[in-house]
Amino acid sequence: MSVVESTDVVVVGSGFGGAIAAYHLAAGGARVVVLERGPWLTGKDFDHDYLLGSSYTRVFDFVAGDGMSVLGGNCVGGGSVVYFAALPRAPRFVFERRGSIGRRMWPSAISRETLEPWYDRVAESIPVSQQGWDDVSYAGGLWAAACDHAGGTANPVPVGVDNTQCTNCNWMMSGCRFDAKRSLLFNYLPGALAHGAEIRPLHEVEHIARKENGDYRIHYDVIDDEDYRVHTGSGTIDAKIVILAAGAGATPVILQRSAVALGGMPEAVGRYFSGNGERLNTAVIDEERVRDVLGLDRGDGRAYEANQIGKGPVVANWDHLDGSLPEYSRYSLEQLYFPPGLGTVLAQVPGKPEPGWFGVEKKEMLRRWKSWLIIFSMIEDDNEGIFGPPPPTGNAYRISQQMLGRGTLSYRPTANTRRAWAESDAEVKRILELDGLAKVAPWTNDLVGAYTVHPLASCRIGDDPRTSALTPGHELRGHPGIFVTDGSAVPGALTVNPALTISALAERAMPGIIQAARERNIPVSAGAPVPTATSTPAGSFR
Ligand SMILES: Cc1cc2nc3c(=O)[nH]c(=O)nc-3n(C[C@H](O)[C@H](O)[C@H](O)COP(=O)(O)OP(=O)(O)OC[C@H]3O[C@@H](n4cnc5c(N)ncnc54)[C@H](O)[C@@H]3O)c2cc1C
Repeated sequence: MSVVESTDVVVVGSGFGGAIAAYHLAAGGARVVVLERGPWLTGKDFDHDYLLGSSYTRVFDFVAGDGMSVLGGNCVGGGSVVYFAALPRAPRFVFERRGSIGRRMWPSAISRETLEPWYDRVAESIPVSQQGWDDVSYAGGLWAAACDHAGGTANPVPVGVDNTQCTNCNWMMSGCRFDAKRSLLFNYLPGALAHGAEIRPLHEVEHIARKENGDYRIHYDVIDDEDYRVHTGSGTIDAKIVILAAGAGATPVILQRSAVALGGMPEAVGRYFSGNGERLNTAVIDEERVRDVLGLDRGDGRAYEANQIGKGPVVANWDHLDGSLPEYSRYSLEQLYFPPGLGTVLAQVPGKPEPGWFGVEKKEMLRRWKSWLIIFSMIEDDNEGIFGPPPPTGNAYRISQQMLGRGTLSYRPTANTRRAWAESDAEVKRILELDGLAKVAPWTNDLVGAYTVHPLASCRIGDDPRTSALTPGHELRGHPGIFVTDGSAVPGALTVNPALTISALAERAMPGIIQAARERNIPVSAGAPVPTATSTPAGSFR
Protein backbone atom coordinates (compact mmCIF):
# COMPACT_ATOMS: atom_id res chain seq x y z
CA MET A 1 0.00 0.00 0.00
CA SER A 2 1.48 3.38 -0.95
CA VAL A 3 1.38 6.18 1.60
CA VAL A 4 -0.12 9.39 0.27
CA GLU A 5 1.74 12.45 1.43
CA SER A 6 -0.21 15.54 2.32
CA THR A 7 0.49 19.16 3.15
CA ASP A 8 -1.38 22.45 3.31
CA VAL A 9 0.05 24.10 0.21
CA VAL A 10 1.99 22.87 -2.81
CA VAL A 11 3.82 25.50 -4.80
CA VAL A 12 4.84 24.49 -8.32
CA GLY A 13 8.02 26.28 -9.41
CA SER A 14 10.43 28.39 -7.37
CA GLY A 15 10.83 31.50 -9.55
CA PHE A 16 9.34 34.89 -8.65
CA GLY A 17 5.71 33.81 -8.44
CA GLY A 18 6.54 30.62 -6.52
CA ALA A 19 9.11 32.00 -4.09
CA ILE A 20 6.90 34.93 -3.04
CA ALA A 21 3.92 32.66 -2.42
CA ALA A 22 6.05 30.10 -0.55
CA TYR A 23 7.49 32.80 1.69
CA HIS A 24 4.17 34.39 2.67
CA LEU A 25 2.33 31.13 3.23
CA ALA A 26 5.17 29.57 5.25
CA ALA A 27 5.73 32.77 7.25
CA GLY A 28 2.01 32.85 8.01
CA GLY A 29 2.18 29.33 9.46
CA ALA A 30 1.10 27.03 6.61
CA ARG A 31 2.91 23.81 5.75
CA VAL A 32 4.41 24.47 2.33
CA VAL A 33 6.13 22.14 -0.14
CA VAL A 34 7.76 23.68 -3.23
CA LEU A 35 8.23 21.33 -6.19
CA GLU A 36 10.86 22.59 -8.64
CA ARG A 37 11.79 20.67 -11.79
CA GLY A 38 15.38 22.01 -11.96
CA PRO A 39 18.46 21.46 -9.80
CA TRP A 40 19.43 23.50 -6.74
CA LEU A 41 22.68 25.35 -7.41
CA THR A 42 24.43 28.16 -5.53
CA GLY A 43 27.64 30.21 -5.61
CA LYS A 44 30.55 28.04 -6.69
CA ASP A 45 28.20 25.70 -8.61
CA PHE A 46 27.83 28.46 -11.22
CA ASP A 47 30.38 27.75 -13.94
CA HIS A 48 32.05 30.09 -16.35
CA ASP A 49 31.67 28.08 -19.55
CA TYR A 50 29.04 26.78 -21.96
CA LEU A 51 29.93 23.08 -21.86
CA LEU A 52 27.15 20.52 -21.67
CA GLY A 53 26.71 19.75 -17.98
CA SER A 54 27.92 23.18 -16.83
CA SER A 55 25.51 25.32 -14.85
CA TYR A 56 24.75 27.11 -18.13
CA THR A 57 23.06 24.07 -19.68
CA ARG A 58 21.61 22.87 -16.37
CA VAL A 59 19.81 26.04 -15.35
CA PHE A 60 18.31 27.05 -18.70
CA ASP A 61 15.27 25.78 -20.50
CA PHE A 62 15.17 26.69 -24.19
CA VAL A 63 11.94 25.67 -25.89
CA ALA A 64 11.50 26.17 -29.62
CA GLY A 65 7.90 26.58 -30.69
CA ASP A 66 6.25 27.34 -33.99
CA GLY A 67 7.07 31.02 -34.53
CA MET A 68 8.21 31.67 -30.95
CA SER A 69 11.06 30.32 -28.83
CA VAL A 70 11.15 30.78 -25.07
CA LEU A 71 14.23 30.90 -22.87
CA GLY A 72 13.71 30.56 -19.14
CA GLY A 73 15.23 29.37 -15.91
CA ASN A 74 15.28 25.73 -14.81
CA CYS A 75 16.51 25.64 -11.23
CA VAL A 76 15.66 26.59 -7.68
CA GLY A 77 15.17 30.36 -7.96
CA GLY A 78 13.87 30.04 -11.54
CA GLY A 79 14.50 32.95 -13.84
CA SER A 80 16.03 35.01 -11.02
CA VAL A 81 19.16 32.85 -11.17
CA VAL A 82 19.77 33.44 -14.89
CA TYR A 83 18.28 36.89 -15.37
CA PHE A 84 20.02 40.23 -15.85
CA ALA A 85 18.30 41.73 -12.81
CA ALA A 86 17.03 44.87 -14.57
CA LEU A 87 14.00 45.75 -12.46
CA PRO A 88 12.01 48.73 -13.76
CA ARG A 89 8.32 49.27 -12.95
CA ALA A 90 5.83 49.13 -15.80
CA PRO A 91 4.70 52.51 -17.13
CA ARG A 92 1.26 53.82 -16.23
CA PHE A 93 -0.24 53.43 -19.73
CA VAL A 94 0.44 49.67 -19.74
CA PHE A 95 -2.38 49.07 -17.27
CA GLU A 96 -4.83 50.87 -19.57
CA ARG A 97 -3.96 48.73 -22.61
CA ARG A 98 -6.78 47.27 -24.68
CA GLY A 99 -4.69 44.97 -26.85
CA SER A 100 -6.45 42.48 -29.06
CA ILE A 101 -9.72 42.34 -27.07
CA GLY A 102 -10.85 45.91 -27.66
CA ARG A 103 -11.39 46.75 -23.98
CA ARG A 104 -9.12 47.22 -20.95
CA MET A 105 -7.08 44.00 -20.57
CA TRP A 106 -6.17 44.49 -16.91
CA PRO A 107 -8.69 44.02 -14.09
CA SER A 108 -10.31 47.34 -13.20
CA ALA A 109 -8.90 47.03 -9.67
CA ILE A 110 -5.29 47.23 -10.92
CA SER A 111 -3.51 50.35 -12.06
CA ARG A 112 0.02 51.64 -11.63
CA GLU A 113 -1.20 53.51 -8.53
CA THR A 114 -2.80 50.49 -6.87
CA LEU A 115 0.23 48.32 -7.66
CA GLU A 116 2.70 50.87 -6.30
CA PRO A 117 2.74 49.61 -2.65
CA TRP A 118 3.36 46.06 -3.89
CA TYR A 119 6.18 47.24 -6.14
CA ASP A 120 7.65 48.95 -3.07
CA ARG A 121 7.55 45.73 -1.05
CA VAL A 122 9.36 43.73 -3.71
CA ALA A 123 11.91 46.48 -4.26
CA GLU A 124 12.68 46.40 -0.55
CA SER A 125 12.83 42.60 -0.38
CA ILE A 126 15.18 41.92 -3.28
CA PRO A 127 16.51 44.74 -2.79
CA VAL A 128 16.42 46.88 -5.94
CA SER A 129 18.82 49.78 -6.24
CA GLN A 130 18.87 52.66 -8.68
CA GLN A 131 22.21 52.72 -10.51
CA GLY A 132 23.96 56.03 -11.00
CA TRP A 133 26.07 57.06 -13.97
CA ASP A 134 29.19 55.96 -12.05
CA ASP A 135 27.89 52.37 -12.13
CA VAL A 136 27.41 52.38 -15.88
CA SER A 137 29.67 50.28 -18.11
CA TYR A 138 31.42 51.68 -21.16
CA ALA A 139 28.79 50.13 -23.43
CA GLY A 140 25.99 51.67 -21.35
CA GLY A 141 27.68 55.05 -21.57
CA LEU A 142 28.11 54.62 -25.31
CA TRP A 143 24.38 53.91 -25.72
CA ALA A 144 23.53 56.94 -23.57
CA ALA A 145 25.89 59.18 -25.55
CA ALA A 146 24.46 57.93 -28.85
CA CYS A 147 20.90 58.62 -27.65
CA ASP A 148 21.91 62.10 -26.55
CA HIS A 149 23.66 62.72 -29.89
CA ALA A 150 20.42 61.74 -31.67
CA GLY A 151 18.36 64.19 -29.57
CA GLY A 152 17.04 61.65 -27.08
CA THR A 153 17.60 60.62 -23.49
CA ALA A 154 18.74 57.49 -21.66
CA ASN A 155 18.80 56.39 -18.04
CA PRO A 156 20.62 53.84 -15.90
CA VAL A 157 18.13 51.08 -15.04
CA PRO A 158 17.25 49.99 -11.50
CA VAL A 159 18.82 46.61 -10.73
CA GLY A 160 18.87 43.78 -8.26
CA VAL A 161 22.67 43.65 -8.17
CA ASP A 162 25.07 44.41 -5.36
CA ASN A 163 27.57 46.39 -7.42
CA THR A 164 30.17 46.16 -4.66
CA GLN A 165 30.31 42.38 -5.18
CA CYS A 166 30.02 42.42 -8.97
CA THR A 167 33.24 41.62 -10.85
CA ASN A 168 31.67 42.32 -14.26
CA CYS A 169 32.62 38.79 -15.29
CA ASN A 170 30.11 38.43 -18.16
CA TRP A 171 28.71 35.14 -16.87
CA MET A 172 25.58 36.55 -15.31
CA MET A 173 23.40 34.23 -17.38
CA SER A 174 24.85 31.01 -15.98
CA GLY A 175 24.22 32.08 -12.38
CA CYS A 176 26.27 34.53 -10.33
CA ARG A 177 29.35 32.93 -8.82
CA PHE A 178 30.12 36.02 -6.76
CA ASP A 179 26.74 36.32 -5.02
CA ALA A 180 26.38 39.81 -6.48
CA LYS A 181 23.06 39.17 -8.21
CA ARG A 182 20.25 39.41 -5.68
CA SER A 183 18.36 36.40 -6.97
CA LEU A 184 15.55 34.73 -5.02
CA LEU A 185 18.22 32.58 -3.36
CA PHE A 186 18.98 35.60 -1.15
CA ASN A 187 15.58 36.85 -0.03
CA TYR A 188 12.22 35.11 -0.49
CA LEU A 189 13.54 31.53 -0.67
CA PRO A 190 15.69 31.65 2.49
CA GLY A 191 12.75 33.41 4.14
CA ALA A 192 10.46 30.53 3.15
CA LEU A 193 12.98 27.93 4.35
CA ALA A 194 13.43 29.72 7.66
CA HIS A 195 9.69 29.34 8.22
CA GLY A 196 9.73 25.62 7.52
CA ALA A 197 8.93 25.46 3.80
CA GLU A 198 10.44 22.47 2.04
CA ILE A 199 11.97 22.90 -1.42
CA ARG A 200 12.35 19.76 -3.53
CA PRO A 201 14.55 20.21 -6.62
CA LEU A 202 14.30 17.89 -9.64
CA HIS A 203 10.58 17.38 -9.02
CA GLU A 204 8.55 18.09 -12.14
CA VAL A 205 4.80 18.45 -11.71
CA GLU A 206 2.88 16.72 -14.50
CA HIS A 207 -0.77 17.17 -13.60
CA ILE A 208 -3.22 18.03 -10.85
CA ALA A 209 -6.39 16.14 -9.99
CA ARG A 210 -9.33 17.09 -7.80
CA LYS A 211 -10.14 14.86 -4.85
CA GLU A 212 -13.65 14.15 -3.72
CA ASN A 213 -13.29 16.36 -0.66
CA GLY A 214 -12.30 19.36 -2.83
CA ASP A 215 -8.57 19.11 -2.09
CA TYR A 216 -6.06 18.53 -4.88
CA ARG A 217 -3.65 15.71 -5.68
CA ILE A 218 -0.44 16.84 -7.37
CA HIS A 219 1.34 14.27 -9.54
CA TYR A 220 5.05 14.67 -10.12
CA ASP A 221 8.04 12.87 -11.65
CA VAL A 222 11.54 12.93 -10.19
CA ILE A 223 14.03 14.09 -12.82
CA ASP A 224 17.54 12.71 -13.28
CA ASP A 225 20.17 15.27 -12.28
CA GLU A 226 22.13 14.91 -15.54
CA ASP A 227 19.68 13.73 -18.16
CA TYR A 228 16.41 15.59 -17.74
CA ARG A 229 14.70 13.21 -20.17
CA VAL A 230 15.03 10.43 -17.60
CA HIS A 231 12.55 10.07 -14.76
CA THR A 232 13.96 8.30 -11.72
CA GLY A 233 10.73 8.14 -9.76
CA SER A 234 7.27 9.61 -9.36
CA GLY A 235 4.83 10.45 -6.60
CA THR A 236 1.84 12.44 -5.42
CA ILE A 237 1.15 14.99 -2.71
CA ASP A 238 -2.27 16.10 -1.54
CA ALA A 239 -2.84 19.76 -0.74
CA LYS A 240 -5.70 22.09 0.07
CA ILE A 241 -4.19 24.97 -1.91
CA VAL A 242 -2.11 24.77 -5.08
CA ILE A 243 -0.02 27.68 -6.30
CA LEU A 244 1.04 27.28 -9.92
CA ALA A 245 4.16 29.28 -10.70
CA ALA A 246 5.98 27.20 -13.31
CA GLY A 247 6.38 30.19 -15.64
CA ALA A 248 4.26 31.31 -18.59
CA GLY A 249 5.73 28.59 -20.81
CA ALA A 250 4.90 25.76 -18.39
CA THR A 251 1.91 26.68 -16.19
CA PRO A 252 -0.66 26.49 -19.03
CA VAL A 253 0.79 23.14 -20.12
CA ILE A 254 0.34 21.64 -16.64
CA LEU A 255 -3.22 22.95 -16.59
CA GLN A 256 -4.02 21.68 -20.08
CA ARG A 257 -2.79 18.23 -19.02
CA SER A 258 -4.95 18.45 -15.90
CA ALA A 259 -8.15 19.42 -17.73
CA VAL A 260 -9.74 15.97 -17.59
CA ALA A 261 -8.73 15.19 -14.01
CA LEU A 262 -9.92 18.61 -12.85
CA GLY A 263 -13.15 18.42 -14.80
CA GLY A 264 -12.67 21.22 -17.34
CA MET A 265 -10.48 24.22 -17.89
CA PRO A 266 -11.20 27.88 -18.69
CA GLU A 267 -10.85 28.53 -22.41
CA ALA A 268 -8.27 31.25 -21.85
CA VAL A 269 -5.72 28.76 -20.42
CA GLY A 270 -2.92 28.48 -22.98
CA ARG A 271 -4.16 31.42 -25.07
CA TYR A 272 -3.17 35.11 -25.21
CA PHE A 273 0.55 34.32 -24.72
CA SER A 274 2.74 37.40 -25.06
CA GLY A 275 6.49 37.38 -25.66
CA ASN A 276 6.60 40.90 -24.17
CA GLY A 277 7.24 42.15 -27.70
CA GLU A 278 10.92 41.35 -27.62
CA ARG A 279 13.39 41.94 -30.39
CA LEU A 280 17.16 42.38 -30.67
CA ASN A 281 19.30 44.51 -32.92
CA THR A 282 23.06 44.27 -33.28
CA ALA A 283 25.06 47.43 -33.89
CA VAL A 284 28.59 46.87 -35.14
CA ILE A 285 30.36 49.93 -33.79
CA ASP A 286 32.87 51.94 -35.79
CA GLU A 287 35.23 52.73 -32.96
CA GLU A 288 36.98 55.58 -34.77
CA ARG A 289 33.69 57.32 -35.48
CA VAL A 290 32.66 56.91 -31.84
CA ARG A 291 35.90 58.61 -30.84
CA ASP A 292 35.49 61.42 -33.36
CA VAL A 293 31.75 62.04 -32.98
CA LEU A 294 31.03 61.21 -29.35
CA GLY A 295 34.48 61.79 -27.91
CA LEU A 296 34.46 58.41 -26.21
CA ASP A 297 37.63 56.38 -25.99
CA ARG A 298 38.54 53.42 -23.84
CA GLY A 299 42.15 54.34 -24.18
CA ASP A 300 43.39 50.78 -24.48
CA GLY A 301 42.94 50.46 -28.23
CA ARG A 302 39.67 48.56 -27.99
CA ALA A 303 36.30 50.22 -27.89
CA TYR A 304 34.93 47.67 -25.46
CA GLU A 305 34.97 43.98 -24.81
CA ALA A 306 32.35 41.54 -23.75
CA ASN A 307 33.74 41.58 -20.23
CA GLN A 308 32.89 45.22 -19.90
CA ILE A 309 29.29 44.74 -20.94
CA GLY A 310 28.43 41.58 -19.11
CA LYS A 311 26.15 43.15 -16.56
CA GLY A 312 23.14 43.04 -18.82
CA PRO A 313 21.08 46.12 -19.45
CA VAL A 314 22.54 49.03 -17.57
CA VAL A 315 21.17 51.90 -19.64
CA ALA A 316 17.76 52.21 -21.30
CA ASN A 317 16.11 54.69 -23.63
CA TRP A 318 12.54 55.31 -22.47
CA ASP A 319 11.69 58.16 -24.87
CA HIS A 320 8.87 56.15 -26.45
CA LEU A 321 7.20 55.14 -23.18
CA ASP A 322 4.77 57.97 -23.66
CA GLY A 323 1.14 57.31 -22.80
CA SER A 324 -0.05 59.91 -25.28
CA LEU A 325 1.27 57.79 -28.16
CA PRO A 326 -1.12 55.26 -29.70
CA GLU A 327 -0.96 51.62 -28.59
CA TYR A 328 1.72 49.61 -30.45
CA SER A 329 4.00 52.65 -30.84
CA ARG A 330 5.34 52.59 -27.28
CA TYR A 331 8.53 50.69 -26.54
CA SER A 332 11.78 50.78 -24.60
CA LEU A 333 15.29 50.26 -25.93
CA GLU A 334 17.84 48.68 -23.57
CA GLN A 335 21.51 48.18 -24.17
CA LEU A 336 22.73 44.72 -23.23
CA TYR A 337 24.95 41.98 -24.40
CA PHE A 338 24.39 38.39 -25.42
CA PRO A 339 27.45 36.19 -25.52
CA PRO A 340 28.47 34.35 -28.70
CA GLY A 341 26.56 31.16 -29.31
CA LEU A 342 23.04 31.23 -30.66
CA GLY A 343 23.39 34.97 -31.00
CA THR A 344 26.15 34.65 -33.55
CA VAL A 345 23.75 32.84 -35.87
CA LEU A 346 20.73 35.09 -35.30
CA ALA A 347 22.67 38.38 -35.40
CA GLN A 348 22.72 39.49 -39.02
CA VAL A 349 25.19 41.33 -41.21
CA PRO A 350 23.93 44.93 -41.55
CA GLY A 351 22.97 45.98 -45.05
CA LYS A 352 22.26 42.48 -46.39
CA PRO A 353 18.72 41.99 -47.70
CA GLU A 354 18.57 38.29 -46.81
CA PRO A 355 19.52 36.63 -43.53
CA GLY A 356 22.98 35.11 -43.86
CA TRP A 357 24.21 32.44 -41.51
CA PHE A 358 27.54 31.92 -43.29
CA GLY A 359 29.82 33.75 -45.71
CA VAL A 360 32.71 36.14 -45.66
CA GLU A 361 30.74 39.14 -44.38
CA LYS A 362 29.22 37.11 -41.57
CA LYS A 363 32.67 35.83 -40.66
CA GLU A 364 34.01 39.39 -40.56
CA MET A 365 31.09 40.51 -38.43
CA LEU A 366 31.65 37.66 -35.98
CA ARG A 367 35.35 38.51 -35.83
CA ARG A 368 34.30 41.94 -34.56
CA TRP A 369 31.96 40.64 -31.85
CA LYS A 370 33.81 42.60 -29.21
CA SER A 371 32.58 45.76 -30.92
CA TRP A 372 28.93 44.81 -30.85
CA LEU A 373 26.35 46.82 -29.01
CA ILE A 374 23.11 44.88 -28.70
CA ILE A 375 19.87 46.77 -28.28
CA PHE A 376 16.89 45.01 -26.79
CA SER A 377 13.46 46.38 -27.78
CA MET A 378 10.31 45.65 -25.82
CA ILE A 379 7.21 46.65 -27.80
CA GLU A 380 3.48 46.02 -27.22
CA ASP A 381 2.61 42.77 -28.95
CA ASP A 382 -0.87 41.39 -29.58
CA ASN A 383 -1.03 38.35 -27.24
CA GLU A 384 -1.01 36.13 -30.32
CA GLY A 385 0.53 32.98 -28.79
CA ILE A 386 -1.53 29.78 -28.46
CA PHE A 387 -0.46 26.48 -26.89
CA GLY A 388 -1.36 23.27 -28.71
CA PRO A 389 -2.16 19.94 -27.01
CA PRO A 390 0.32 19.26 -24.18
CA PRO A 391 3.20 16.77 -24.44
CA PRO A 392 2.90 13.66 -22.21
CA THR A 393 5.25 15.12 -19.56
CA GLY A 394 7.07 18.40 -18.93
CA ASN A 395 6.38 21.65 -20.77
CA ALA A 396 7.95 20.45 -24.03
CA TYR A 397 9.28 17.41 -25.86
CA ARG A 398 12.83 17.28 -24.53
CA ILE A 399 15.28 16.90 -27.43
CA SER A 400 18.54 16.85 -25.52
CA GLN A 401 19.60 15.76 -22.11
CA GLN A 402 19.57 19.35 -20.85
CA MET A 403 18.24 22.71 -21.97
CA LEU A 404 16.59 22.05 -25.35
CA GLY A 405 12.99 21.18 -26.04
CA ARG A 406 10.34 21.53 -28.72
CA GLY A 407 7.11 23.01 -27.43
CA THR A 408 3.57 23.37 -28.66
CA LEU A 409 3.38 27.18 -28.61
CA SER A 410 2.51 28.78 -31.92
CA TYR A 411 2.88 32.50 -32.51
CA ARG A 412 1.92 34.39 -35.64
CA PRO A 413 2.78 38.07 -35.16
CA THR A 414 -0.09 40.31 -36.21
CA ALA A 415 0.29 43.45 -38.32
CA ASN A 416 0.27 45.49 -35.06
CA THR A 417 3.20 43.55 -33.65
CA ARG A 418 5.17 43.60 -36.89
CA ARG A 419 4.62 47.33 -37.29
CA ALA A 420 5.75 47.96 -33.71
CA TRP A 421 8.93 45.93 -34.27
CA ALA A 422 9.59 47.82 -37.52
CA GLU A 423 9.21 51.16 -35.71
CA SER A 424 11.58 50.21 -32.90
CA ASP A 425 14.11 48.75 -35.40
CA ALA A 426 14.02 52.01 -37.34
CA GLU A 427 14.61 54.02 -34.17
CA VAL A 428 17.63 51.92 -33.16
CA LYS A 429 19.02 52.39 -36.66
CA ARG A 430 18.37 56.14 -36.58
CA ILE A 431 20.17 56.55 -33.26
CA LEU A 432 23.18 54.36 -33.93
CA GLU A 433 23.78 54.96 -37.62
CA LEU A 434 23.69 58.75 -37.22
CA ASP A 435 27.05 60.14 -38.38
CA GLY A 436 28.35 56.65 -39.08
CA LEU A 437 28.63 55.47 -35.44
CA ALA A 438 27.59 51.93 -36.31
CA LYS A 439 25.90 49.61 -38.77
CA VAL A 440 22.73 48.07 -37.40
CA ALA A 441 20.64 45.01 -38.27
CA PRO A 442 17.90 43.17 -36.39
CA TRP A 443 18.34 39.52 -35.46
CA THR A 444 16.61 37.18 -37.85
CA ASN A 445 13.36 35.44 -36.93
CA ASP A 446 13.88 32.94 -39.76
CA LEU A 447 15.57 30.28 -37.66
CA VAL A 448 13.56 30.01 -34.44
CA GLY A 449 10.81 32.55 -35.05
CA ALA A 450 10.44 35.35 -32.56
CA TYR A 451 12.11 34.70 -29.22
CA THR A 452 11.53 35.81 -25.69
CA VAL A 453 13.07 35.62 -22.26
CA HIS A 454 9.93 37.30 -20.87
CA PRO A 455 7.02 34.90 -21.46
CA LEU A 456 3.72 36.32 -20.20
CA ALA A 457 -0.09 36.15 -20.23
CA SER A 458 -0.76 32.48 -21.09
CA CYS A 459 -3.11 32.15 -18.10
CA ARG A 460 -4.01 35.70 -17.30
CA ILE A 461 -5.97 37.70 -14.75
CA GLY A 462 -8.88 39.81 -15.93
CA ASP A 463 -12.46 40.86 -15.32
CA ASP A 464 -13.87 39.07 -18.35
CA PRO A 465 -14.07 35.25 -18.00
CA ARG A 466 -13.96 34.79 -21.78
CA THR A 467 -10.53 36.37 -22.16
CA SER A 468 -8.93 35.67 -18.79
CA ALA A 469 -8.31 32.31 -17.13
CA LEU A 470 -7.89 33.82 -13.67
CA THR A 471 -10.00 36.07 -11.48
CA PRO A 472 -8.47 39.43 -10.53
CA GLY A 473 -7.40 37.59 -7.34
CA HIS A 474 -5.37 35.04 -9.43
CA GLU A 475 -7.73 32.10 -8.75
CA LEU A 476 -8.24 29.71 -11.65
CA ARG A 477 -11.83 30.18 -12.76
CA GLY A 478 -13.98 27.21 -11.77
CA HIS A 479 -11.26 25.67 -9.58
CA PRO A 480 -11.33 27.16 -6.09
CA GLY A 481 -8.05 26.76 -4.29
CA ILE A 482 -5.82 26.75 -7.41
CA PHE A 483 -3.96 30.03 -7.92
CA VAL A 484 -1.46 31.18 -10.56
CA THR A 485 1.11 33.78 -9.47
CA ASP A 486 3.80 33.69 -12.19
CA GLY A 487 4.30 35.58 -15.46
CA SER A 488 1.36 33.79 -17.05
CA ALA A 489 -0.98 35.88 -14.87
CA VAL A 490 0.26 39.19 -16.35
CA PRO A 491 -2.34 40.27 -18.94
CA GLY A 492 -0.01 41.48 -21.68
CA ALA A 493 3.26 43.01 -22.80
CA LEU A 494 4.72 45.55 -20.38
CA THR A 495 7.20 47.44 -22.63
CA VAL A 496 9.84 46.90 -19.92
CA ASN A 497 11.44 43.90 -18.18
CA PRO A 498 8.67 42.09 -16.31
CA ALA A 499 10.11 40.44 -13.16
CA LEU A 500 9.26 43.32 -10.82
CA THR A 501 5.69 43.50 -12.11
CA ILE A 502 5.25 39.70 -11.89
CA SER A 503 6.49 39.93 -8.31
CA ALA A 504 4.32 42.92 -7.38
CA LEU A 505 1.26 41.08 -8.69
CA ALA A 506 2.22 37.98 -6.68
CA GLU A 507 2.60 40.11 -3.54
CA ARG A 508 -0.77 41.74 -4.26
CA ALA A 509 -2.43 38.32 -4.61
CA MET A 510 -1.14 37.00 -1.29
CA PRO A 511 -3.73 38.39 1.18
CA GLY A 512 -6.53 36.87 -0.94
CA ILE A 513 -4.72 33.54 -1.23
CA ILE A 514 -4.13 33.46 2.52
CA GLN A 515 -7.82 34.20 3.07
CA ALA A 516 -8.71 31.26 0.78
CA ALA A 517 -6.32 29.05 2.75
CA ARG A 518 -7.98 30.06 6.01
CA GLU A 519 -11.38 29.22 4.52
CA ARG A 520 -9.95 25.76 3.86
CA ASN A 521 -9.04 25.44 7.54
CA ILE A 522 -5.33 26.07 7.10
CA PRO A 523 -4.09 27.95 10.19
CA VAL A 524 -2.27 30.75 8.41
CA SER A 525 -2.09 34.49 8.94
CA ALA A 526 -1.36 37.35 6.56
CA GLY A 527 0.99 40.28 6.97
CA ALA A 528 4.48 38.73 7.02
CA PRO A 529 7.16 41.43 6.93
CA VAL A 530 9.43 41.74 3.91
CA PRO A 531 11.92 38.86 4.06
CA THR A 532 15.32 39.71 5.48
CA ALA A 533 17.85 39.72 2.66
CA THR A 534 20.80 37.44 3.38
CA SER A 535 24.30 37.27 1.93
CA THR A 536 24.31 33.46 2.15
CA PRO A 537 22.20 31.86 -0.57
CA ALA A 538 19.37 29.50 0.29
CA GLY A 539 20.56 25.93 0.01
CA SER A 540 24.30 26.57 0.33
CA PHE A 541 24.50 24.35 3.43
CA ARG A 542 22.36 21.51 2.09
C1 LIG B 1 18.61 35.34 -19.89
C2 LIG B 1 17.47 36.01 -19.19
C3 LIG B 1 17.60 37.32 -18.75
C4 LIG B 1 16.53 37.95 -18.12
N1 LIG B 1 16.71 39.21 -17.64
C5 LIG B 1 15.68 39.84 -17.02
C6 LIG B 1 15.86 41.13 -16.45
O1 LIG B 1 16.94 41.71 -16.50
N2 LIG B 1 14.78 41.70 -15.87
C7 LIG B 1 13.56 41.09 -15.79
O2 LIG B 1 12.62 41.68 -15.25
N3 LIG B 1 13.40 39.86 -16.27
C8 LIG B 1 14.42 39.21 -16.87
N4 LIG B 1 14.24 37.95 -17.35
C9 LIG B 1 12.91 37.34 -17.24
C10 LIG B 1 12.62 36.83 -15.85
O3 LIG B 1 13.61 35.92 -15.47
C11 LIG B 1 11.25 36.17 -15.89
O4 LIG B 1 10.29 37.12 -16.33
C12 LIG B 1 10.83 35.67 -14.52
O5 LIG B 1 11.78 34.78 -14.00
C13 LIG B 1 9.51 34.95 -14.64
O6 LIG B 1 9.07 34.61 -13.34
P1 LIG B 1 8.00 33.48 -13.15
O7 LIG B 1 7.63 33.41 -11.73
O8 LIG B 1 6.95 33.66 -14.17
O9 LIG B 1 8.71 32.11 -13.60
P2 LIG B 1 10.19 31.58 -13.50
O10 LIG B 1 11.07 32.52 -12.80
O11 LIG B 1 10.55 31.15 -14.87
O12 LIG B 1 10.03 30.31 -12.58
C14 LIG B 1 9.35 29.15 -13.00
C15 LIG B 1 10.01 27.96 -12.31
O13 LIG B 1 9.15 26.84 -12.47
C16 LIG B 1 9.94 25.70 -12.75
N5 LIG B 1 9.07 24.74 -13.45
C17 LIG B 1 8.67 24.75 -14.74
N6 LIG B 1 7.86 23.70 -14.99
C18 LIG B 1 7.77 23.01 -13.84
C19 LIG B 1 7.09 21.83 -13.46
N7 LIG B 1 6.34 21.15 -14.34
N8 LIG B 1 7.23 21.39 -12.20
C20 LIG B 1 7.99 22.06 -11.29
N9 LIG B 1 8.66 23.19 -11.60
C21 LIG B 1 8.53 23.66 -12.86
C22 LIG B 1 11.07 26.25 -13.59
O14 LIG B 1 12.20 25.38 -13.58
C23 LIG B 1 11.34 27.58 -12.92
O15 LIG B 1 12.29 27.46 -11.89
C24 LIG B 1 15.30 37.27 -17.95
C25 LIG B 1 15.17 35.96 -18.37
C26 LIG B 1 16.24 35.32 -18.98
C27 LIG B 1 16.07 33.89 -19.42
